Amino acid sequence: MTDMATDIRERPGAAALDLDAVRAAFPVMADTMSGRPIVFLDSGASSQKPEAVIAAHAEFYRHDYANIHRGVYELSQRASDAFDAARRKVQTFLGAAEWREIVFTRNTTEAINLVAWSFLEPKLQPGDEILLTTMEHHSNIVPWQIVAMRHGAKVVSVPITDAGELDMDALRSMIGPRTKMLACSWVSNVLGTVNPVAEIVQIAHGHGVPVLVDAAQAVQHVAVDVASLDADFLAFSAHKIYGPSGVGVLYGKREHLEAMPPWQGGGGIVDRVEFEKTTFGEIPFRFEAGTPDIAGVHATGVALDWFGGLGIDAVAAHEADLMAQGLRALHQIPGLHVLGAPACRTGAISFTVNGLHPSDIGAMLDLDGIAIRSGHHCAQPLHRRFGLEGSARASFGVYNTNSDVEALAESLRRIVRKYG
Ligand code: PMP
Repeated sequence: MTDMATDIRERPGAAALDLDAVRAAFPVMADTMSGRPIVFLDSGASSQKPEAVIAAHAEFYRHDYANIHRGVYELSQRASDAFDAARRKVQTFLGAAEWREIVFTRNTTEAINLVAWSFLEPKLQPGDEILLTTMEHHSNIVPWQIVAMRHGAKVVSVPITDAGELDMDALRSMIGPRTKMLACSWVSNVLGTVNPVAEIVQIAHGHGVPVLVDAAQAVQHVAVDVASLDADFLAFSAHKIYGPSGVGVLYGKREHLEAMPPWQGGGGIVDRVEFEKTTFGEIPFRFEAGTPDIAGVHATGVALDWFGGLGIDAVAAHEADLMAQGLRALHQIPGLHVLGAPACRTGAISFTVNGLHPSDIGAMLDLDGIAIRSGHHCAQPLHRRFGLEGSARASFGVYNTNSDVEALAESLRRIVRKYG
């Protein structure tokens, strides 16, 4: 079993990130916002893109673009080869046994919908339960609710502690014969909590319950190996890991994908079509109806290569340093409250300030050239758990520096002095 805790802590011997080179790789880092150098602390919503990815995307359209898996001419072959190569890169990145276990979607949301409709919906009976957690993003709540409603099934959520960690005793007591699926985020997009997903998978499998891991906030921060994780499904979006928007990934165990019907009809997924009956093609193509984002998938492969070149240990060590500095600084600001205090945390710090609406905090930081997110971050149940409607969130990427974190803290100190 992977020890998730070590994934985000400084490991002795991890090669340090060459931060100047990393920043130089992102054209936007040289830009300004509100007339100030950009301090981008909203990578949890979507990351910025390195030049390697931007150039690969543009170059693909210039010289390698045609529709895939259809043409016999050379250009189409080249485009098809690039698309197929990207799938293998995702397979390697995730540690999946086969490329056929990798399905391209538009984003994490679509990947979860695919599993909800194709894997779970045909099995659901009245009284069945889908076990989620209180810290889920709406994308990992609403698709399950929609299929549950059609069958008299329901979603139930594992509570979290005041520290923002999953109540594992509650999870153990809530899972049972009625549970047909467990879906859980690996890393919370609000609290940054790193959930013990390998342990959760083990518990669920002990009850014969399949697990989907929402890795939208995980793959860019922690080491991933689906083989040792043993999850049945795992989803992530390219746009949060320095790749383009419009491409998502669903990993699914072959035995599940083979047994699942298509969830969207169209070209590219069929074997033989007659008006009386259609037979469907092999996995993963059975789940990829219509023309995909060909250039985007290619650029996703380039993004994973680029990210892999940094080394996950170096990334994790750097981001752990930013997190420690951020927590230290924010905790010292009077009237500022950080949400949760999980022992294992990465990527995001959410907070409120007495007397200030999160949107006002966001707008005032914008004037200082600092980009953060404010609102409910598509996690309303989580905010309600803390008696809130929303919060402000600073989230980190590989390009952030200690100066970025200090700029945030300095602005917040000033805002609190003036308005808090
Ligand atoms: N799950 C989590 C934990 C997320 O943070 C997000 C994006 N904020 C999603 C799912 C949905 O991702 P996307 O919008 O790319 O489908």
